[in-house]
Amino acid sequence: MQDARCKIKNKTYNLQLATCNFKGRMLFDVPMKDYTSFKIGGNAEVMAFPKNENDLISIIGFAASKGFPIFVFGRGTNLLVMDNGIKGVVINLSEGFKKISWEENDTVAVGAGVMLVELVNLCKDRGLSGLEFAIGIPGTIGGAVVMNAGAYGSEIKDVIERVEAVDISGKKHSFDKSTLNFSYRKCSIPENMVITKAYLKLKKTGMEEIQDRVKEFKDRRKTTRAINMPNAGSIFKNPHGLLAGKLIEEAGLKGIRVGGAQISEIHANYIVNLGNATAMDVLTLLSMIRDRVFKTKGVLLETEIQVVGED
Ligand SMILES: Cc1cc2nc3c(=O)[nH]c(=O)nc-3n(C[C@H](O)[C@H](O)[C@H](O)COP(=O)(O)OP(=O)(O)OC[C@H]3O[C@@H](n4cnc5c(N)ncnc54)[C@H](O)[C@@H]3O)c2cc1C
Repeated sequence: MQDARCKIKNKTYNLQLATCNFKGRMLFDVPMKDYTSFKIGGNAEVMAFPKNENDLISIIGFAASKGFPIFVFGRGTNLLVMDNGIKGVVINLSEGFKKISWEENDTVAVGAGVMLVELVNLCKDRGLSGLEFAIGIPGTIGGAVVMNAGAYGSEIKDVIERVEAVDISGKKHSFDKSTLNFSYRKCSIPENMVITKAYLKLKKTGMEEIQDRVKEFKDRRKTTRAINMPNAGSIFKNPHGLLAGKLIEEAGLKGIRVGGAQISEIHANYIVNLGNATAMDVLTLLSMIRDRVFKTKGVLLETEIQVVGED
């Protein structure tokens, strides 16, 4: 039986977790900088690691009954968490949703918490092609679906067959690909959904061919994006027909710094954390970039990273 006291929105609650049947791990006052690739962010009040779908439904229902907001977290590789942290319950699927099952017709069913890189390597070993583009994307399947993650001309939408999810009232949903709209770094799946599983349709191909493609994509990243400081990937979306990094560089902003945040010297569409950056430093840089690129290039950049939490 678990029981815990926790402060949410400055009120102390006795969570009586046993009453909600939650079996997974739960952490309190969790520094999000330890969980995000940017290494930035204040504390989350609660982080829950459901063990399975029933556990997920329990914690969602429990949060709803108490009026706690929830935020679904993949691996935090596309996030800027604000300095005052995240109120309510952060649901982390990295422990309970890691099952991979190989189905008929070159289809694989993948838990939302599985890392893309792990899956690419497993597919390579089975001679299943279609995911090689994702070799350098450090997030989970759940995050990849929500973001329609992509690289080198391919996107996750190209292999998605079906997505399973649970909504914030605990109801299960299944979305066939024909009912989902994907666009550049966007998926039409409703915001109140926790993605639990995705079915991907791959293509049987020679292992060597896949290996060559994986190597090619790894090499391309090494030459263009060898960034060894904490970051959250591309900060801005590429405007139609243009490259955000090139616009930022041409606006004379490469290397510019605010506090501990700097526009990367290697790739101008990356902001790096020099060690002690705050979310405010990054937001200040973002607005400087947007203003300068708009003034000098007439293009309004749209952020790709998701900003979450409290000001
Ligand atoms: C070095 C580096 C390189 C990168 N390169 C690329 C690249 O080439 N292409 C690219 O597209 N991206 C790239 N990214 C960005 C990032 O890795 C992707 O957007 C990735 O898909 C995010 O996955 P995540 O699991 O980390 O999601 P998170 O960052 O944790 O979350 C992103 C969004 O998805 C939501 N979410 C996550 N999981 C679920 C779920 N199970 N159910 C519902 N909502 C969920 C979150 O609430 C949030 O809104 C890069 C990032 C880094 C740091």
